[in-house]
Amino acid sequence: MIDTLDDAELDRRIRTKTLTDLKGIGPKTGTAIVQAHKGEVPEYLATLEEAHAELVPMADDVAAFRALLRGDLHSHSDWSDGGSPIREMAEAATAIGHEYLALTDHSPRLTVANGLTAARLERQLDVVAELNEELAPFRILTGIECDINLDGSLDQTDELLERVDVVVASVHSDLRAERSVMTERMLAAVANPHTDVLGHCTGRLVIGRKQRNGTQRPRPESQFDAEAVFSACVENGVAVEINSRPERLDPPLRLLSLAVELGCDFAIDTDAHAPGQLDWQSNGCERAVATGVPPERVINTLTADELLDRSV
Ligand SMILES: [Zn+2]
Ligand SMILES: [Zn+2]
Repeated sequence: MIDTLDDAELDRRIRTKTLTDLKGIGPKTGTAIVQAHKGEVPEYLATLEEAHAELVPMADDVAAFRALLRGDLHSHSDWSDGGSPIREMAEAATAIGHEYLALTDHSPRLTVANGLTAARLERQLDVVAELNEELAPFRILTGIECDINLDGSLDQTDELLERVDVVVASVHSDLRAERSVMTERMLAAVANPHTDVLGHCTGRLVIGRKQRNGTQRPRPESQFDAEAVFSACVENGVAVEINSRPERLDPPLRLLSLAVELGCDFAIDTDAHAPGQLDWQSNGCERAVATGVPPERVINTLTADELLDRSV
């Protein structure tokens, strides 16, 4: 319809607000045409694109990679700073074909994210055990995203770190520390026998984001000796996380390539804080394909039993 109007006629109809007099043009389409004519992305189309983002087809090789993943090893519930109950996260994971989801809420020191004290984590373990009986064969792996303290120790009791299935160790504070200080801190965390996955290793934010405690601006990568840290990951059987959150996309491709070269294992995680975010894994798969990550080195291609045998 709109193609049959010349520019002058379109201008006139926009000016006189008579676009919707034309057959087949309702108010929504009318508004979209006006916005497009002004060179803007029509709001209506932007909303549609957002709502159907998951329907945009993945490249075949990315889709094939994604199909190999049996689960996700980094997610949050409303027990820490996620927005949804554990059950809803688990049901969403089941719905997209996962066999398991590691629930890795924050550790005590991350008070801004309502980190779990030892007592709350113990209670969560009971809740998960009950849910698992109900949801079997799907399995919620117990876990924690544990802060790496300034001295490289982990922010939870040894007893609990031993008890949970998956420990993702991440730096969340003093991200601008000097390179050698950050390297030592990360090396200590990677050498910790409880650490299974090194979370979002550079801590960068490529775009700003809104959080419950305000808006965070983009920030650069932390500085550390990546070769030393990734080599330590290989030695200690710690998987390097490929974090799929659009504002993180961590590690950057150049470091991801280095980790591939050094022989690291990987975990392609969403770090989902809401059920819909579990779909973000394709972001990580895209980066894995781009840097030649061998699927057999991605630990969430393993079954839950194989994973736990690996001592994750
Ligand atoms: Zn984190
Ligand atoms: Zn997280």
